[in-house]
Amino acid sequence: MPRQLRTGKRRRRQQRQEWDKRDARREAARTRALQSTDRRGEDLEEIADDIAEEMQRTVSDQSSQPELTGQAQMGRVVEYMGRTVRVNSDGKDHICRLRSTTRINSNDSTPLAVGDRVDIQLAPSGEGVITEIHPRGLRLSRASRLHPDIEQVLVANVDQLLLVTSCADPRPKPEFLDRVLIAAAVQSLPAVLCINKIDLDAGTGEPLQEVYQAAGFRVLLTSAETGQGLAELDQLLREKLTVLAGQSGVGKSSLANRLDPSLDLKVGAIISSSRKGRHTTTRAILLPYRDQGYLVDTPGLNLFELWNIDPRELRDYFPEFVARAGDCRFSSCQHLAEPDCAVKAAVEAGTLTAQRYRSYLHIRDTL
Ligand code: GDP
Ligand code: ZN
Repeated sequence: MPRQLRTGKRRRRQQRQEWDKRDARREAARTRALQSTDRRGEDLEEIADDIAEEMQRTVSDQSSQPELTGQAQMGRVVEYMGRTVRVNSDGKDHICRLRSTTRINSNDSTPLAVGDRVDIQLAPSGEGVITEIHPRGLRLSRASRLHPDIEQVLVANVDQLLLVTSCADPRPKPEFLDRVLIAAAVQSLPAVLCINKIDLDAGTGEPLQEVYQAAGFRVLLTSAETGQGLAELDQLLREKLTVLAGQSGVGKSSLANRLDPSLDLKVGAIISSSRKGRHTTTRAILLPYRDQGYLVDTPGLNLFELWNIDPRELRDYFPEFVARAGDCRFSSCQHLAEPDCAVKAAVEAGTLTAQRYRSYLHIRDTL
């Protein structure tokens, strides 16, 4: 076998081994993250527990099982409503319960979550029952406050995260963006960056786009005002379940409304930071997007705070570091003071953005 082929094979094998190791590290980080309760907002813990309680009640409520007629149809759980859930199916919403015979995974602390794909059957009254819960894909999770080792699925079957920022008003905060992107990577969620309000300051938007494109992310430049970039954003959102994230005021609601006016989201809504108490907490709700996808707005939910990530693993959540790490002298290279570090060399050569590297150092210090 020619030498070149052999080394190609070896490289691929090494690459695969690296990927396997990375997956294992990610899984470990995810487990640890889910087991930690410190450093998370009180609100969030309450939300997770509220949801858990409601799920428990919904699951155990097996009273008044109606006679079923009609065919089973596929749907999505879009909202939790106390003892029932709202399921969106073929463009219509149905209030549904679980049937006593519905198979649930009792090992799962969140047997039924917003975002779950389910089969429902309707009674003549219009009420439905969930007859089947389908296996889940990617999810957005939190640890329960009461049972820190228990995972609460906030949204199931998430396809992607759309991180929205703005060129101006408010100005972008790169380190905040990096933190959200890391949190998404920890949960293995693909993330796309949307730089909005490009009509206000293209001079800020374009360099920022370059930074994140160079880091390996897809970046859209948009304006909810002029419509720039909205066709591309629409393409991205169709047929996907997208979690929206980003500071308040960057234009998430404006973008969503402009693309799908039936969403009718409140623009300029201020989220009060003094919001307290169990009955005012915000939950994840799926909003049907153009009858083909779903959006999850997360106002008031700081879903992307970083907590309990091992500083040694942080490097794995920077895709542009991962792409170069194979050329560092040590596979354990943290890209700090080690000799022959390909990441630092790339920063010095200007092929890796200094801003992202600084962000790495700074966030690492805070972990
Ligand atoms: P959200 O908090 O992220 O949902 O942001 P909103 O959609 O509520 O928008 C906050 C403010 O920014 C509102 O006054 C919007 O009219 C304004 N806004 C949103 N998108 C744009 C944009 O692309 N260009 C400009 N100039 N203003 C925008
Ligand atoms: Zn290195």
